[in-house]
Amino acid sequence: MQRYSTLSLVKNAVSHHEGWAQAWRSPDLKAEYDVVVIGGGGHGLATAYYLAKEHGIAKVAVLEAGWIGGGNTGRNTTVVRSNYLFPESAAFYDFSLKLFEGMSQELNFNVMLRQAGMLTLLHSRHDVEVMRRNINAMHMNGVDADWINVAEVAKLAPGINVGPEARYPIKGGILQKRGGVARHDGVAWGYARAADSLGVDIIQQCAVTGFDIKAGAVQGVQTSRGVIRTKKVAIAVAGHSSVLADMAGFRLPVSSMALQACVSEPLKPVFDAAVMSPALGVYISQSDKGELVMGGGLDLYPSYAQRGNVGTLEHVIAGVIELFPNLSRVKLMRQWAGIVDIVHDSSPIIGHTPVEGMYINCGFGTGGFKATPAGGWTMAHTVAHDKPHKLNEAFSLKRFETGAFIDEMGAAGISH
Ligand SMILES: Cc1cc2nc3c(=O)[nH]c(=O)nc-3n(C[C@H](O)[C@H](O)[C@H](O)COP(=O)(O)OP(=O)(O)OC[C@H]3O[C@@H](n4cnc5c(N)ncnc54)[C@H](O)[C@@H]3O)c2cc1C
Repeated sequence: MQRYSTLSLVKNAVSHHEGWAQAWRSPDLKAEYDVVVIGGGGHGLATAYYLAKEHGIAKVAVLEAGWIGGGNTGRNTTVVRSNYLFPESAAFYDFSLKLFEGMSQELNFNVMLRQAGMLTLLHSRHDVEVMRRNINAMHMNGVDADWINVAEVAKLAPGINVGPEARYPIKGGILQKRGGVARHDGVAWGYARAADSLGVDIIQQCAVTGFDIKAGAVQGVQTSRGVIRTKKVAIAVAGHSSVLADMAGFRLPVSSMALQACVSEPLKPVFDAAVMSPALGVYISQSDKGELVMGGGLDLYPSYAQRGNVGTLEHVIAGVIELFPNLSRVKLMRQWAGIVDIVHDSSPIIGHTPVEGMYINCGFGTGGFKATPAGGWTMAHTVAHDKPHKLNEAFSLKRFETGAFIDEMGAAGISH
């Protein structure tokens, strides 16, 4: 891997980086691959990386219709945590958080993980009772979570209105200290560069348009840049999962909906922890650049339109101002949306599809950034061995036949 001296960094800065090597190649598409990964978001790139690194399968292409990280990976609000309710989810998401904790070293790329805590606010006696029960569930699963009182909430979230006159008075909070934020596109770029260095071909501007399937088994992939022969396909396209499933002739229990977020102008550091209020339906954190990153719930209707709207923005801003009245004069800078893949038990699908040789990673909905490493890791294992790893076997499509759902809707209220 190329390294740079301080002098060369200065030289490159003034020469518009002319001497810098590309972080990953732009190779030509080959006629055949051992595995074709569809989707150059975090999950697809991590899948390719772990296929090469953990399983020695490097004749892999990642096909991305646009640019890598241009989907939900580059649009999310970057919260990472593992405070889920069910043992299957706790094991999966905590493994993911542990991979995040070692990711900058593993990929030799700074993903700017900041574990300053994830604080969930409680606004009523009922909230407190339910969440105390949830804390017990988390502890039983070996996941850290602490109950904190109002004074501690006020210390962690400076400026928060803890007065009794608030429309939703604050009664305490749950803190996962290991939770926090990471740089989203850093995660995509880090996995891309590391996968490329192991021989994976990352092909951008290459949309999958169909599949060649014979006798129920995949034989190839049709793309906007030609046909590829392959016996193994891993789909990781989030909000477009149903579109790809339709091309392959099966249906998924997934609805695609828009999820919005927005950022303010940059401010000096205000708070470290990410703060979420399920009752108000909003959450806020501060990026390393100083912007306040804010979001809320889903637009509750199916859509493939990646754009924000005034109603949701108004709801999010009203909630944030309710919590932090002193932010009322901060200017808003940008608003956007991503298309997320919603499954009605709010848990992912990682595993086999009805087509032999075709596997899928989807259903992460509003909360799959934190799952990027574990999603890629378990998907790579499943593809390499043609059977799921212990961590993802409960997350198969079969649960929609057996009814063994993993209902995580209540894990954080607005489950990011
Ligand atoms: C506003 C917002 C806030 C969020 N906040 C959080 C958060 O705080 N914490 C958290 O954990 N999660 C959050 N999420 C969810 C998280 O972003 C996603 O679950 C996760 O990024 C999904 O990653 P992915 O790699 O599966 O999908 P994506 O990053 O969406 O990648 C899929 C890729 O597939 C490509 N593709 C689609 N169709 C084709 C085709 N036919 N051929 C080739 N390529 C194709 C797309 O172009 C896209 O780049 C948020 C999401 C949004 C939208």
